[in-house]
Amino acid sequence: MPRLPIRDDLQKMQGYHSAQVTVPVRLNTNESPYPPPAEFTTELGRRIADIAWNRYPDRTASALRAAIARSHGVGADQVFAGNGSNEILQTLLLAYAGAGRKVLTFEPTYQLHAHIARITGAEVVSAPRGNDFRIDQSKLAEVFSTHSPDVTFVCSPNNPTGVVEDEKTVRAIIDSAPGLVIVDEAYAQFASWSAVDLVDESRALVVTRTYSKTWSMAAARLGYLVGPKWLVDEIDAVVLPYHLDAAKQIAGALALEFTNDMNSRVREIVASRDQIESAFSALPVDFWPSGANFILFRPRSMDGRKVWSDLVEKGVLIRDCSSWPGLTNCLRVTIGTPEENNLFLKSLAEVLSQ
Ligand SMILES: *Cc1c(COP(=O)(O)O)cnc(C)c1O
Repeated sequence: MPRLPIRDDLQKMQGYHSAQVTVPVRLNTNESPYPPPAEFTTELGRRIADIAWNRYPDRTASALRAAIARSHGVGADQVFAGNGSNEILQTLLLAYAGAGRKVLTFEPTYQLHAHIARITGAEVVSAPRGNDFRIDQSKLAEVFSTHSPDVTFVCSPNNPTGVVEDEKTVRAIIDSAPGLVIVDEAYAQFASWSAVDLVDESRALVVTRTYSKTWSMAAARLGYLVGPKWLVDEIDAVVLPYHLDAAKQIAGALALEFTNDMNSRVREIVASRDQIESAFSALPVDFWPSGANFILFRPRSMDGRKVWSDLVEKGVLIRDCSSWPGLTNCLRVTIGTPEENNLFLKSLAEVLSQ
C-alpha cells in the first residue's frame, strides 16, 4: 500500500525543528540551567507513589487550578491547565481559529504560533514589527482593518528577540483587536510587567504561561492560561477528557510551594543576563536588550551561520536564527550557568577575532 497522503494544506507546511546536537554547553532552547530544588523532587516522588494509578485523574485538575489561581490572585474558574503552553495554544486555536478563520502574528516572533494555527486549518496573516522589534502602535488600526483577525498573538517578552512590549501597546491591541488576544508570557518572570492584571470578564484576552522555563520543569510539559470564565468554560469543552495526568497535576501544584526558590533562580539568571549584555557591549556584535532568559544578537562583520557553526565546534550550541525572515545574521543565546556563560563568551570572542 502506498503511503497515504495527509491533508493537502499540511503537505505544504514545514515541520518545526530546532537542531539537536550533542555538545557540552547547550544554550539553544531557553530551558533553565538549574534543576528544581531537591526537596521538590523528593516530595514529588512520595506523592506520586500515593496516586490511585488504576483510576482516571481529576478531570478538571481542580487542586492544580486552585493553586495556580491563588498564585495570581484570580479565581480557579479563570485558569485552564494543559500539557505545556503549546497545548494551551492549540486548544485555544481549535476553539477560536480553525478553517475559515484568521490568526495574526507580529513578525518576527515565536514560530509555533503560526505553525499551530495552520495545523488547525486557520489562515495565518502577519504584520511586521517596527523599530527594535517593537509592535508599532500607530499601525494597529490599519493592521486590524486590513486583516480582521479572529485571533491575535502578542508574545511578551517576545521569542526570539527578548523584547518586552510596552503596557500601552498591549492595552491598545486589546482595545482594538476584533477577536481574541493571546498574550504568550512564557518568560514573564524575567520581565518588568505582566498582562495577567488586564484579564477581565469584559475582555477577550488570555495570558498563557509555562512551567518549562522559570519553573525548571521543561520535562513535565505543563502550562496554563489565565482568562475570563466564559472562555475557560468553552475551552473545557474542547480539550480531550482527562488530558492532564495525575502526576503532572501534583507536580504543578507542588512546584508553587517552591516559589521563593524559583524567584531566586530567576534573579540569578537576570544577573547573568546583565553580565552577558555588558560583555556584548565590548564585542563586535549588536544585541537587543532582553527581558527574558535569552539574548538575540548579531555579529557585525561575520556571517551568523558561520559564527553558529564555529561555536558548535567549540562545544557551544546556541540557536541559529540567521535565515529566519527579518532576522538576517541573528543568533539567540540562552542564559546558562555562570560557567556555561563564561565558556560561551570566551568561545564567541575567539570566533569573532579569527
Ligand atoms: C518556550 C516557549 C513556550 C513553552 O511552551 P511549552 O509547551 O510550555 O514548553 C511557549 N511560548 C513561547 C514563546 C516559548 O518561547
